[in-house]
Amino acid sequence: MDKLAIVVPCYNEEETLEIASRTLREVLEDLIGKGKISGDSFVLFVNDGSRDRTWELIEEEHGKYPSRVLGVKLAGNVGHQLALTAGLLTAMDLCDVTVSIDADLQDDVAVIEEMIDKYHGGCDIVYGVRKKRNTDTFFKRTTAQCFYRLMKMMGIRTVYNHADFRLMSQRAVREFSRYRESNLYLRGVMPLLGYQSDCVYYDRKERVAGESKYPFNKMVALAFDGISSFSIKPISLILGMGVIIISISFLAGIYALVSYFSGHVVPGWTSLILSIWFLGGIQLLAIGLVGQYIGKIYIEVKGRPRYNIEKVLTGQEETGSSEIST
Ligand code: UDP
Ligand code: MG
Repeated sequence: MDKLAIVVPCYNEEETLEIASRTLREVLEDLIGKGKISGDSFVLFVNDGSRDRTWELIEEEHGKYPSRVLGVKLAGNVGHQLALTAGLLTAMDLCDVTVSIDADLQDDVAVIEEMIDKYHGGCDIVYGVRKKRNTDTFFKRTTAQCFYRLMKMMGIRTVYNHADFRLMSQRAVREFSRYRESNLYLRGVMPLLGYQSDCVYYDRKERVAGESKYPFNKMVALAFDGISSFSIKPISLILGMGVIIISISFLAGIYALVSYFSGHVVPGWTSLILSIWFLGGIQLLAIGLVGQYIGKIYIEVKGRPRYNIEKVLTGQEETGSSEIST
């Protein structure tokens, strides 16, 4: 039987913590009762340097349900993405499968069962996807849509309308742990792991209590991380712009020469306009070229795993293991 860990990052969630703990414990009991997960499955709360009573409440819950509710306390606030990473990496050695969910229970816990079913069906990653975004404000909805478009343009693979509500098998988390970058954008990394994945669909609800811990500036920072940690397309755009401007400079050159010979110009204009366009183009081209090298450095520095071996058939599996066992 597989042991499930539900990982919950919490930042100033004193209003929601008890409800979250109760709801998630009920989900676990239900799944255990149905024989889908093992009896020692647990909820892991990660306190992301909260300034309110969140950690005290986690300790209290752990006191009441020592094997059902576990906690990790980070020494300071590192942000949702890293707090979730800390939780996943801690859970990795304690369980067989993880589900990450926000403390505010905006994501529908009822689909966790469906996620587990897909996991038993052979999926290593199951994404929770929102059907509609009608509980979000108009502003959040449109900015999110623009963001997904932009990501697509930049060639970054993400799952549309998926936040960080997702199931990951232990081996998927282990593979993820090889991505050592600090500017983490989890929704971009997971599709890179390459394991078999699927989606479950649900309606996103209002927060059960408290208010959003993602103000506009944090949202912009996350969006910027999403693009700048995955794509060097912006650099290529500069290079492309340089090429275009140089081409224009030739056209401008022809125009300037024609004007010059037809005598409609102030002295000095022709050479001036030509050098402005041509030099502008050359500068952009040069910056773009240097950028290409920086882009390469950036990719090397990330040191991401270059591939993920899922299975090997060498024909020596039996002999190999029997040698060890004899
Ligand atoms: N969170 C966190 N660290 C932060 C900000 C948020 O761990 O610095 C957690 C928060 O407690 C919640 C989840 O991340 O469990 C998502 O935050 P929130 O619900 O406020 O975001 P929204 O749903 O408004 O996008
Ligand atoms: Mg929320």
